[in-house]
Order: sequence, then structure tokens, then C-alpha cells
Amino acid sequence: MAVREGNSEIKELFETVVDGGYCIGCGACAAANDSPIEMNLDEYERFQATLVPETNRSSPSISLESVCPFSAKSLDEDRIGEELFGRDCSYRDRVGYYLATYAGYVAEGNFRDGGSSGGLGTWIAAKLLKENLVDGIVHVHPRQPTAEDSRLFAYQLSLSVEDVQKGAKSRYYPVEMSAAIEIIRHRPGRYAFVGIPCFIKAVRLLMRQDPLLNERIQFCIGLVCGHLKSAAFAKLLAWQCGIEPDKILAFDFRKKLPGADANKYGIEVTGVKDGQIVTVTSPVRDLYGADWGLGFFKYKACDYCDDVLAETADLSIGDAWLPQYLKDSRGTNVVVVRHRDLQKPIEQAIDAGDLKLERIDPDEVAKSQRSGFRHRREGLAYRLYLADKTRQWRPPKRVKPEAKHLDRSERQRFSLRILLADRSHSAFKDATDRGQLSVFQARMMPLVQEYELASLPPRPPLWRRIRSRLKKYYVRLFG
Ligand SMILES: Cc1cc2nc3c(=O)[nH]c(=O)nc-3n(C[C@H](O)[C@H](O)[C@H](O)COP(=O)(O)OP(=O)(O)OC[C@H]3O[C@@H](n4cnc5c(N)ncnc54)[C@H](O)[C@@H]3O)c2cc1C
Ligand code: SF4
Ligand code: SF4
Repeated sequence: MAVREGNSEIKELFETVVDGGYCIGCGACAAANDSPIEMNLDEYERFQATLVPETNRSSPSISLESVCPFSAKSLDEDRIGEELFGRDCSYRDRVGYYLATYAGYVAEGNFRDGGSSGGLGTWIAAKLLKENLVDGIVHVHPRQPTAEDSRLFAYQLSLSVEDVQKGAKSRYYPVEMSAAIEIIRHRPGRYAFVGIPCFIKAVRLLMRQDPLLNERIQFCIGLVCGHLKSAAFAKLLAWQCGIEPDKILAFDFRKKLPGADANKYGIEVTGVKDGQIVTVTSPVRDLYGADWGLGFFKYKACDYCDDVLAETADLSIGDAWLPQYLKDSRGTNVVVVRHRDLQKPIEQAIDAGDLKLERIDPDEVAKSQRSGFRHRREGLAYRLYLADKTRQWRPPKRVKPEAKHLDRSERQRFSLRILLADRSHSAFKDATDRGQLSVFQARMMPLVQEYELASLPPRPPLWRRIRSRLKKYYVRLFG
């Protein structure tokens, strides 16, 4: 590839991040002025950076490696956070910089019912517009799929509160930012950008190099993130509801089910079934592959990410997966505020009763993402160790490579998770190529069973089992 030969930076970006499988498909490298990179879905329906055809190639105006959240040349979240928030905020491991941390929900209007969780994601975006702090919100909306482009969601610019509300809810689905950044570049104004942590990091890196973006993007709103899914995730769930993968018209990943715990939510899919447009709702627990712990359709990059709470965002929002909030099916947010201009409207809205937020300790916010942190701290340390042992290139991380902190069965579980994610992509492609959902389940079953076995609590040692049997025997004989 000529551009790889001609431009050592692009060559390096492809040979490390992209060819190594660490591209999250954010589109930051394609968003740079005159970039020779464009974003395309790969055979497993994940956005990936690709080089534009040779005849149309240009030279980028900025360093593409330094805007990539996974390259060795970009700053890490601590450095970016320190630059942005170091003067005003306190710092806590795992949470990053913070001014205030809360849990709660939106009491005003229908934000909570319309949102995935407590509705704060949409409320803050609407508030920024209403208070004239920004002119537009760049976030992810549903889109009408077509024969040429079957995507169900994409980044879009909202200029009114009504439009912002139409974009509510979480999309566990591949999206990329290059077209949205182009809009910001060509349309003078002040914007807020909503994204998952690696996208926010990439936007910050773009802003450091591009003064126009730096001037126009006023706020970054981050979503807490477990991992990103390929488009196959929506297709697998829809297929089980009787809607074939290429017949989906709309998808709600977070349908609230009244009376159920907040984490026992459902999905709602609309599509064509037997020639009719139908809408089907199902609790996620009834659907194969919806268990996030199995990590089906996860991007490899997510296994090499250490930012759970969007540490470079002005405000981070997630689900309060804590026992005291789970019983409420309407959903509860955890919130980390890092920017004073966002703390003010939040505190005013608490006083006015529009927000029901209580202050919680930053460690409680981290606790709400306990399994996410386990996977991206202890698990990541082990994956880094494995990559280094086999001398593979991998992105530099804030976590140090290590294996000794895990026992044998934990190491086995983390290794199996890598295999589960990897196999799910090709297994689903096989299933769709053959038009049989059962192909997917058959290919995944041996690994899933192995994983479930490895996840069982360890058996007590033989002497303890014998002692306990003898005790029971003794009680039965002598009372
Ligand atoms: C891929 C992914 C993984 C997540 N993993 C976790 C997790 O492990 N733990 C956790 O606590 N929370 C996680 N979240 C966040 C959670 O699902 C909710 O989005 C969050 O709690 C906000 O809910 P809300 O009701 O306040 O927001 P809502 O009022 O529903 O607003 C959500 C806002 O986010 C925007 N948005 C939705 N999806 C995307 C996207 N993919 N990229 C950019 N913007 C988007 C919407 O357009 C909307 O503006 C994840 C979100 C995503 C997208
Ligand atoms: S900037 Fe984003 S799209 Fe480009 S190579 Fe890096 S992760 Fe992939
Ligand atoms: S886990 Fe990390 S890399 Fe994966 S989507 Fe979330 S923020 Fe991005």
C-alpha cells in the first residue's frame, strides 16, 4: 500500500492499532482534515479505519497517531484529565478527576421514562440548549435503514429539545464520528458531544490539535462503558424474537419493564415478520447471548481499555448498579461532574426538585461498575501479560501487566472471555451465511459451557468434603 510506504505515521497506525485488531472504529483519524482514512464496516459489522482508494488520497493536516485513543503516540486519560481538570478537581483512582459525584434520576418531565437509566443524559443535553450554553448536541439517533445502508443508528446533530429527546436511550451498536465532526467543522456554533469513553478521549485528542474544534466543542458528555458490540448483537437478539437479521427496522436496547429490577430490562425490536411489520418485546434474560459477562460481539479494543467512567468527559453518566437502587425499574443514574459550568445547573435543578440526586462517595460510583472494573483492571493486567509474553504489539495502558494476582481458575475465565468474544464474530457470520440461528448456538456452546464450568465456585478440598459427609452421617445416626 503506497500511502503506508509514503507516510510512516499512517503505516505505523495501521501496523499497530488497525492490523493488531485494536481499532474501536471511532473515526477520529478519518475526521482529521484531509485524512486519507475513511470508516467502513468490516465483515463482522464493526466500524474499522480503512485507507481511501489510492487515487483519492490526500495528506492529513495533523498527526493521526496522536488522535487515536489506542495508539502509542496519544496521551493517556490521566494526562488529558490533568490538563483539563487538574486545577479545579480532586482525583480518585478509577473515577479520575471529579468535582462532585451523585446518584439519582430526573424528576422533571418524561426524561426518566424516555431514557435508558435515570434520564440524565438527555436532561443535561436539553438543559445546555435551553440555557443557551450550546447551539447543538452531537449524539446518536435511530436512523431508517435502507437497502444500501442497513445501519440502525448514527451520530446526528440535534438543534432543539424535541430532537434531543428523540435521541434518548443507549445504543449498544457500532457508530463512528467522522461525519459528525465534519458537520461541526462546517457549521459555526457551540456544541456538546456525547460519547462512550474512548470516543470522548479521541475528541479531546482531536481538539488538542484542531483549534476550530477546540473552540466549537464546549462540553463532552461521557457514558460509562462496559464494552461496545458489533451490529450482530442487535441481529442475534432480533432473530430470537422471530425477526431475521436483515429485516430489522428499529431497536430499543433498554426497554424498561415495570416491576422488574432495573438491570432486568428488556429489548424491543420492530421489523418485518411474515410480510408484516411487527414489534416484539422480550426480557433480556430470556435471550441467548444477552449476558454481558460472556462478551459476545465485543471489539478486541475493549479488552485493552482502562477507562470505564469516561475520565476525560466534563460529565459522566452511567447506571447505578448498586443494591439500594436496583429495585426501581425506572432506572437510576450515577453521575460524575468535572466542569463547574455543568455543576451549577445540576445543583440549581436539585434545589428546584427537577433532579432527585444525592451526593455519594466517588468510590461508590466505582463500586456501581464493579464487574467492569474487575475486567478492566485485574483482567486487563492479565491480558497485557499474555500479549507481552507472546511479544505482540499492544496499546500502552495505565495498568501494569501481571499474572500472579489471579489464581488458575480466574486466569482460565479471563482467557476464555477473549475466545468467546473472538469466536462470536465468525460464528454469527456462519449462522447468517447459512440462514440458521442454531449454527451460532452450536458453535458457541462448547466455549460457553467451559466458561460456565470455570465460573463455578471452587470445590472445597477432599479432606473438608469427607469431614462434612461424616458430620452429616453422625447427625443422622445420633440426632
Ligand atoms: C456501548 C455502551 C456501553 C455501556 N456500558 C455501560 C456500563 O457498563 N455500565 C453503565 O453503568 N452504563 C453503561 N452505558 C451507559 C448506559 O447504558 C446509559 O447510556 C447511561 O446510564 C445514560 O442513561 P440516561 O438514561 O441518563 O441517558 P438517556 O437519556 O437515555 O440518554 C443517552 C444519551 O446518550 C446518547 N447515546 C446513546 N448511545 C450512544 C453511543 N453509542 N454513542 C454516543 N452516544 C450515545 C443518546 O443519543 C443520548 O443522548 C453504556 C452505554 C453504551 C452506549
Ligand atoms: S482513531 Fe479510531 S478509527 Fe482511527 S485507528 Fe484509532 S481507533 Fe481506529
Ligand atoms: S470498553 Fe473502552 S474501548 Fe470499548 S467501547 Fe467502551 S470505552 Fe471504548
